[in-house]
Amino acid sequence: MEKPAIEGGSPVRKEFLPFARPSIGNEEVAAVTEVLKSGWLTTGPKTKQLEQEFARFIGSKYAVAVNSCTVGLHLALAALGIKSGDEVIVPSYTFAATANVVVHCGAKPVFAEIREEDFGLDPDDVRKRITKKTRAIIPVHFAGQPCDIGALKEIAEKHDLQVVEDCAHVSGATYAGKKAGRFGKVAAFSFYATKNITTGEGGMLVTEDEDLAKRFEVLRLHGMSREAWKRYGKEGNWQYEIIEAGYKYNLSDLHSALGLVQLKRVEELYRKRKAIAGYYAKALADSEALILPKELPGRSHDWHLYAVRLRLDRLRIDRARFIEALAKENIGASVHFIPLHLQPYYQRTFGYAKGMLPVTEKAFEGEVSLPLYPAMLEHDREEVVHAVKKITRFYAKD
Ligand SMILES: *Cc1c(COP(=O)(O)O)cnc(C)c1O
Repeated sequence: MEKPAIEGGSPVRKEFLPFARPSIGNEEVAAVTEVLKSGWLTTGPKTKQLEQEFARFIGSKYAVAVNSCTVGLHLALAALGIKSGDEVIVPSYTFAATANVVVHCGAKPVFAEIREEDFGLDPDDVRKRITKKTRAIIPVHFAGQPCDIGALKEIAEKHDLQVVEDCAHVSGATYAGKKAGRFGKVAAFSFYATKNITTGEGGMLVTEDEDLAKRFEVLRLHGMSREAWKRYGKEGNWQYEIIEAGYKYNLSDLHSALGLVQLKRVEELYRKRKAIAGYYAKALADSEALILPKELPGRSHDWHLYAVRLRLDRLRIDRARFIEALAKENIGASVHFIPLHLQPYYQRTFGYAKGMLPVTEKAFEGEVSLPLYPAMLEHDREEVVHAVKKITRFYAKD
């Protein structure tokens, strides 16, 4: 049997394969350079264009660019009037941003369970956690596959709750033929460096509600009356009014120029991700120590992450040791996510504790995200599989 590098064997690769890497080509470089030379760096025509093209891509009426998904989620909750005394249901199984923004509004994040099949909010568990104070639900479409957003939306409508979709992992994935991001009152997308399309840092809000879109535009730029960014142009005016105590959440034209090229490539990038996921699915199918992610009926998967679960009952090592062993083979990996109810802040502030969300905790225990990004070469993905098989075989329980 082949010896893992962590046991003194030779590593599968010589150079480290990072867990994630953006796909930036000459066209992106040229687009940013053009803006640099244009004399207009901040929010302007490129941002406007990105909003229009993103709205068309998702099929939504309005899109408002912001400088991250996190601030987008915050802006959404703030504009919907979420405040102190309110409760917002979110998965514990998500990135900190999803719940932190609830705290930023003075409200309480109420953590609900996920379903094992999609790592998304479990509608039955959500129903149980609704109280008189519940105002909204923030479903997360984990790894690139929509959660059971149809069932969640039904619950929300019945109880008069707002739905704000956390679309950080999706870029076109569908549920019942409709793109994720078109189910909630608002959806927030991420253009962070590791996400399916990137502007380095950036995000986008989409909505069907014209009044809400207008409030986003005002609130994202200090609460200035609309189109304030035009005030330095020929038709501009030094006059402005502060109509709300807004935020500084706007996206610059530098970022938007990058986003326009990435959005144009979204299909190409998706096809490459899908091909790698397809390769992993085939090559790892016979691994008894792994539970592989699946595309569920009626949904599509954008393959932001390839999140496998280790069957720890069949291994002599835990997840931490597995990731360490992969690193010794020169292969990066990550964990999505450390449940928020296990984090010190949320335990200290809201009294959450281990044991409260068993499905979430079990899913977390064995989760490992393997490298998956368009820039990966054929030998890269082959080496990932080689290393995973080598480690799982060596440490298999007999
Ligand atoms: C990345 C991520 C965010 C935050 O996105 P930013 O653009 O970095 O603010 C929010 N939610 C989830 C689930 C994420 O993975």
